[in-house]
Amino acid sequence: MHFTDLGLSADILRAVTEQGYDTPTPIQAQAIPVVLAGRDLMAAAQTGTGKTAGFTLPILQLLATRAPVKRGKPRCLVLVPTRELAVQVHESVRTYGKHLHLKAAAIFGGVGMGNQLAALRSGVDIIVATPGRLLDHIEQRSADLSAIEILVLDEADRMLDMGFIRDIRKIIGLLPKKKQTLLFSATFSDEIRGLATGLLDNPTSVEVARRNAPAEAVAQAVYHVDRERKKDLLIHLITEHGWHQVLVFTRTKHGADALSDRLLKAGIHAAALHGNKSQGQRQRALDDFKKLKIHVLVATDIAARGIDIDELPHVVNYELPNIPEDYVHRIGRTGRAGSSGEAVSLVCVDELKLLRDIEQVLKRSIEKRVVTGFEPDPRIKAEPIQKPRTGRGQAPNRNQPAGQRKPQTAAKSGKPAGHHFGSRHR
Ligand code: AMP
Repeated sequence: MHFTDLGLSADILRAVTEQGYDTPTPIQAQAIPVVLAGRDLMAAAQTGTGKTAGFTLPILQLLATRAPVKRGKPRCLVLVPTRELAVQVHESVRTYGKHLHLKAAAIFGGVGMGNQLAALRSGVDIIVATPGRLLDHIEQRSADLSAIEILVLDEADRMLDMGFIRDIRKIIGLLPKKKQTLLFSATFSDEIRGLATGLLDNPTSVEVARRNAPAEAVAQAVYHVDRERKKDLLIHLITEHGWHQVLVFTRTKHGADALSDRLLKAGIHAAALHGNKSQGQRQRALDDFKKLKIHVLVATDIAARGIDIDELPHVVNYELPNIPEDYVHRIGRTGRAGSSGEAVSLVCVDELKLLRDIEQVLKRSIEKRVVTGFEPDPRIKAEPIQKPRTGRGQAPNRNQPAGQRKPQTAAKSGKPAGHHFGSRHR
């Protein structure tokens, strides 16, 4: 299968070739013809599968070849959970559409409205937006959705986890009834199916990665180590192996800052990435990480969502996530699009139950290692894992980064709040 077999136009194929892609990924091979045929799509695809190009390429083609019904109004809306993903999808639209004459705007919170207002006023074909900030623009009448022909819900499961369901439904209510809808989600939960019912019209379902099946290319290992010695072990592993591009996950923002400080003191170029950082700081940290000026990026799960780096060689779970599915998401950051990668987890006695849960979801056991000099002390007893502070009781604030907004689904659905607050609200 080649890109040329998918019915894409010469201008789009040229941009794809310039990106260095020659073979479509499975999601692209399956999704592109469906979208080009104008059908609704429900796709189970995780980050790293090439899903962004899977919807961006055919949408660009449809918009470039169709005459606008209402001239000057946006025709495609892509809703995404985080500002990082908004930036990334916007970048993809620009990259793949560079030989076309379409305009796009990225709309997200945490930055001023001015540039976004100017972009929207100048007229765009495609809006890539996080739900909260888009609603702000709608209220100010700076975004007109009356001519939307194509709606994409990207990472729909994350948007629901982050409490965006009401915002999403509000936005959908403002769109024309007749439109093409594409829904991408890592998993098809009951909640996702509920959203899809009534929204999608006789959709084609496409599934590329088995649920909870991490990329085969990722080698996984667990290092058993004591709680207090994790920092030293991490420094040892990074220096011993000469790791130069490592994404490290911590459970809390505070933990990310503390670890990054400790690494810096050890002479390792590190930075923390989380929701309390300004947009500028986050972008700079990401750019420096991509350029290898920073070797270690310490991030919380939500902050890491938008990181798009080819062939990320090392992912470290400095702390295991509370929800096994988050482990799969995390290690999905390495070994992307066919390259190999390594995911290691530093596991102390407190986390043995979490490790068992993860192995159960993976349906396999992960290789265990102990480094000489870092052997766990069997006399140390397990302690309860501290939940991050949740900031409950605050009203959702649109100007806060999406990752910090209070999830509403947990409270609304009557599920135990810990299920969401414990893992998502960092
Ligand atoms: P995504 O799942 O959309 O986040 O894409 C994952 C990564 O794969 C991105 O960095 C893309 O640049 C890359 N990618 C997408 N499609 C292809 C392809 N057909 N061949 C090689 N790399 C690709």
